[in-house]
Amino acid sequence: MSKSLQNLIQLNKLINHPYQIDFDYSLSLFDKLTDFITKDHKFAIKSLESDQWVNESVKVDLEIKSIDSANPMNVVSGRIEARLFLTCQNCLNIFENEIDVPVKIALCSDQNAYQGNKDYEPWEIQGCSIKIIDLIEELLLISIPLYVKHDDDKDCVIPKKPQTRNDLTTFPFANLKNQLNNDK
Ligand SMILES: [Zn+2]
Repeated sequence: MSKSLQNLIQLNKLINHPYQIDFDYSLSLFDKLTDFITKDHKFAIKSLESDQWVNESVKVDLEIKSIDSANPMNVVSGRIEARLFLTCQNCLNIFENEIDVPVKIALCSDQNAYQGNKDYEPWEIQGCSIKIIDLIEELLLISIPLYVKHDDDKDCVIPKKPQTRNDLTTFPFANLKNQLNNDK
């Protein structure tokens, strides 16, 4: 099933038969994405074993075809959904993020020179082809917010500084007494 992810979409070769990629893949197939998450977790207060997040699903539902506009071109449309465990930049705890990427792109070699259909966003690719898996990865990576943060403030708990001896104000005399006894 993962074979189709390795297929290339070529810029200058039109697709005779539109095809669909509709499948749940394991996040572990996406190297750049898992690298990104591993690095992100280094900043977390409490780490998470990779086996606790690396098999989450990446749900792909894409159609790949050629459209015949002024310039015929290859387009990709549909949706990618993934559940990614990322570090909240506010409280530094790792939490679950639902990433939902609507896709409607036209592959081109230069987005400034894009002369295509307005319904599709130009998507510049390096070279003359791109692997489907790399395209999905790029789309997911750019959809991760720069500043990942809990949506709900009540989930976002900043740990208090541990109490030091000087903060103990409940029984000041008892502490003083203990101190004197220790000094004897
Ligand atoms: Zn938080």
